[in-house]
Amino acid sequence: MSETIQTLLQESRTFPPTPEFVAQANANDPKIYQDAAADPEGFWEGWAKQLDWFEPWHTVCDFQPPYAQWFVGGKINAAYNCVDRHALGDRKDKIAIIGEGEPGDTRFITYGELKDQVSQLANALKALGVGKGDRVSVYMPMIPELAVTMLACARIGAAHSVVFGGFSADSLAERTNDAKCKVIVTADGGWRRGNIVPLKNTVDETMDLGCPTVTNVLVLKRVGTPGEVTNGVVTPEYSQGSWVEGRDIWWHDLVPQQSTDCPCEPMDSEDLLFVLYTSGSTGHPKGIVHTTGGYLTGTYATSKLVFDLKEDDVHFCTADCGWVTGHSYIVYGPMANGATVLMFEGAPDTPDKDRFWRIIEKHKATILYTAPTAIRAFMKWGDEYPNRCDLSSLRLLGSVGEPINPEAWIWYQQTIGKGNCPVVDTWWQTETGAIMISPLPGITPTKPGSATQPFPGISVSVYNEKGEGKEVTGPGIIDSAAGGFLVLTKPWPSMTRGIFNDPARFQKTYWSKFDNAYFAGDGVKLDEEGYLWLLGRVDDIMLVAGHNISTMEVESALVDHPSVAEAAVIGKTHDIKGQAIAAFVILRGGHQNHDGLVDELKKHVAHKIGALARPDDIFISAELPKTRSGKIMRRLLRDVAEGRALGDTTTLADPNVVHLLRDKYEASEG
Ligand code: ATP
Ligand code: MG
Repeated sequence: MSETIQTLLQESRTFPPTPEFVAQANANDPKIYQDAAADPEGFWEGWAKQLDWFEPWHTVCDFQPPYAQWFVGGKINAAYNCVDRHALGDRKDKIAIIGEGEPGDTRFITYGELKDQVSQLANALKALGVGKGDRVSVYMPMIPELAVTMLACARIGAAHSVVFGGFSADSLAERTNDAKCKVIVTADGGWRRGNIVPLKNTVDETMDLGCPTVTNVLVLKRVGTPGEVTNGVVTPEYSQGSWVEGRDIWWHDLVPQQSTDCPCEPMDSEDLLFVLYTSGSTGHPKGIVHTTGGYLTGTYATSKLVFDLKEDDVHFCTADCGWVTGHSYIVYGPMANGATVLMFEGAPDTPDKDRFWRIIEKHKATILYTAPTAIRAFMKWGDEYPNRCDLSSLRLLGSVGEPINPEAWIWYQQTIGKGNCPVVDTWWQTETGAIMISPLPGITPTKPGSATQPFPGISVSVYNEKGEGKEVTGPGIIDSAAGGFLVLTKPWPSMTRGIFNDPARFQKTYWSKFDNAYFAGDGVKLDEEGYLWLLGRVDDIMLVAGHNISTMEVESALVDHPSVAEAAVIGKTHDIKGQAIAAFVILRGGHQNHDGLVDELKKHVAHKIGALARPDDIFISAELPKTRSGKIMRRLLRDVAEGRALGDTTTLADPNVVHLLRDKYEASEG
């Protein structure tokens, strides 16, 4: 981005909070922004004090860029704050976790029961030689035991490294070895679209690849042997793997026998809580480090204010715990608040495309937090699925993971929220630990496609190439409109403490572009009212005939067309213009490609944005290459469009998609 980004797509619809929502909201006084901006450390200290500490801190923040320490000297335990303090108080019999298995088997675990289960597993891990300072690989389905495992590690001061259950043996081995894990906790398998994901078999392959630090594999029986029945659904054939005596241990042979008494290890505020590898949409994953006190403070505060968490909420975050969203907004943030969380094991289209809506109806979920990729899939499938379910329990909707196109935002707000639910579009990263930019639902008027304002206490700046720019610390607290690089200029409690074992990469990736500021890697636009519009990765921004154009804006213009469900846009090398715009488009359910559609779409973009943004090529496709967390991988589409060999495809959900797409694309080019 040599120049600032041109303001292209205009979006003028605004949605102020309703008086009813404001009246009951956890945050409804805009003064919170001014107060936090005037004294960010004091603001965060106030939140930290709402957690239970064994010993107080002596210093709120010690920032030596690129590293910060928060609540220095304080002693705390994350499991104590997420479990014990509720179990020992009024929430003992409150449901902590509702586990919805893919076959429809449902479990309800109270905070009191959770305390016992976490303690037993914690003692079992100790029996396997795991202690304070060790690491544990967690490779499990999205069932309650996954949260139990994370919390059991936290209880004894071991760090977890959760690896998404869709990853291969190579990926699991690489992450396990990088973090030098002592134990792998897994299950025989998990359910996915009626099939079994053979987790234990993959762990066997992982161990065959060589994991010298792993002494034991703890295996939960989830799916059982083929022919077994779960809620009327029969376990199909799958690779069960082998059993290595001495190394492999069944969960049921070790855990239930343990004492339910296990003291919480007093951890230093800055002790490691977990390592989590990023989703890898830009390249090779990074082992992101999070520590205890600051991370818990950030996730606790943002859960309470952004999701407006209340005592009787049922919080349904559809992310997997293999991603940071599952860490921060299924486990640590909501549970530090004593909330009821829903964990769903399966796919949104199993047994039918209404599965999320059935779950909301069944458990009367009040908050839904999902990703634009899912929302666009629902739009593609059609309105009949949500429309046949009772969604009246919902009171707040959230989005995370990618920029949300304004049309997808409107669809979400109307078709799912029935116009009654505030929508919070939340921008953050594995590295930031907690939400950084988001509306506060009782304060902020929302604009479809804008993540709006920095959370109180967070300082965002929009920099140009030279590192000059505007600071944004709340509504209207800016100088003028601009577009550029998104940077965070002050430390915040949940910021990453680095890349595991790779300080040089940490410095280079985030702290070398600008002095003493965290560079997030994303482009952003600031409008006249101080609203932030995320534009995607700066690497994806196109330079067409000397103008910077964001892929996100062209994609949103395409999705605005009634026949388009999803679009991915890239800049393709062009002799004259530098880059020409190429688009890959998926149509909505019930819409077919026809003569003239491509021209119509090109015109639609030119009309919405301007002739400059008119795509040269539009390719109608059935699927797009995505990471396992559902993000579009534009760098691979650039390889396709420019006829290059495909780059690293190891983090793709389904590598076949991009190979097929390339074959069809090349055939269409003739
Ligand atoms: P890697 O860093 O390994 O390439 P990743 O960046 O996709 O992977 P995450 O930390 O899961 O891994 O994703 C954070 C990124 O997701 C952000 O940098 C941003 O690009 C995008 N993102 C998340 N939420 C939003 C949002 N609400 N609006 C726009 N973009 C978002
Ligand atoms: Mg990233």
